[in-house]
Amino acid sequence: MRLVVLGGGESGVGTAILGKKKGYDVFVSDFGKIKENYREILTINGIKWEDEKHSEDLILNADVVMKSPGIPEKAPIVKKLLELNVPVISEIEFAIQFTNAVTIGITGSNGKTTTTLLTYHLLKQGGLNVGLAGNIGKSFAWQVAENKFDYYVLELSSFQLDGIVNYKPHIAIITNLSPDHLDRYNYDYNLYIASKFKITQNQTEDDFLIIDHDDVEINKWLHNHSIKAQIIPFSISSTVEKGGYINEQNISSNINNEQLTMPINELALEGKHNVKNAMAATAVAQLLKIRKQTIRESLSNFQGAEHRLEKVLKIQNVQYVNDSKATNVNATFFALDSMNTPTVWIVGGVDKGNDYDELMSLVREKVKGIVCLGVDNAKLFQTFNNVVDVMVETTSMEEAVKIAQRMAEKGDTVLLSPCCASFDLFENYEDRGRQFKNAVHNL
Ligand code: ADP
Repeated sequence: MRLVVLGGGESGVGTAILGKKKGYDVFVSDFGKIKENYREILTINGIKWEDEKHSEDLILNADVVMKSPGIPEKAPIVKKLLELNVPVISEIEFAIQFTNAVTIGITGSNGKTTTTLLTYHLLKQGGLNVGLAGNIGKSFAWQVAENKFDYYVLELSSFQLDGIVNYKPHIAIITNLSPDHLDRYNYDYNLYIASKFKITQNQTEDDFLIIDHDDVEINKWLHNHSIKAQIIPFSISSTVEKGGYINEQNISSNINNEQLTMPINELALEGKHNVKNAMAATAVAQLLKIRKQTIRESLSNFQGAEHRLEKVLKIQNVQYVNDSKATNVNATFFALDSMNTPTVWIVGGVDKGNDYDELMSLVREKVKGIVCLGVDNAKLFQTFNNVVDVMVETTSMEEAVKIAQRMAEKGDTVLLSPCCASFDLFENYEDRGRQFKNAVHNL
């Protein structure tokens, strides 16, 4: 069997290694440059590869193709393969056939990484032999090749879900839905939602789907489609019979007739959105029978993820917070919502068709000054210029942080929550977050 792997990044190299181990004739092709360390690994493992081109004669004869999630369906080479009826699948779909491990699949528009890390933490603290993969860390296929774990917590983007055929998680989470990556879905929100719900398509009555009960789009979908898995809702606005909800100042999680109670102020992560993420992760831990005491301890000692409402430093009693991963309006909404002190807000970048009006009342209530950090800030100025006391713009992170420092007074917060993609001024959101942290440390 000839396995062609499109994309020589983490998931591509992992798939190639697994394929090779399972006896496939493997070829890796990347239209860009493959990183030096990955080239070495491929070569050492006797796997043939090419980069900066796609040689059709070496690709179109594949029996099966693994497409890395970064490559769009519209890429000419993918189109040709599909015309020839060659199966084009994702890493998860390829790898799952070689493991009996139980998987927990986590998708949604925001909160995937946080919920994945938190779930992993809970299960690990609970003593399960659990791995972490998907969009995060070491490739799933690679770990399957090493045959290390009995459980995996997988962060699954819609792109990874697009390439599944038979894969089913025993427990799936859909954290929430809001428009994102629509350029990859012909600007059709319904197509994007459908791809998120692919996570449920092979689930049976023995499986579970954990969902945000407050999410309009999720409810709409559930209303119009039948889902076989047992649905476990969580909500911060109403009481649900089986699932997670807020009872006074506590999370109450009622799963398998077991009631777990956890004071919200003992959660390691702040903000309403993180209460939701905690409810979702707790439901998984309860389903897998982790002790309640362990779940509570783990929810309170979780370290949090870099670039997600990450507290950087307090300088002269001003708290600096790095939320560089907030690349859409919904993420920034929850960041602003969780601010308890007057806030200087650093915002801007590449606008993905944002509707900033959704933030208007939070900005009125919480934001005293805005620093726009982006190449094109016209829309931000138009929306907020008359709403806050001061609004300035810059294209330098160093400068943005210095201006924010001047605007802030004792007791305030300086929040980087850009609401936008980072490609105008930075390599990616990690680069943006690190530059912010460096600039704060330099103050
Ligand atoms: P993803 O992996 O889905 O992009 P992250 O956990 O990396 O999600 O968080 C992305 C951004 O969204 C961060 O700014 C974070 O503070 C915010 N966020 C986290 N959880 C949620 C949630 N449940 N709802 C809305 N925003 C969230």
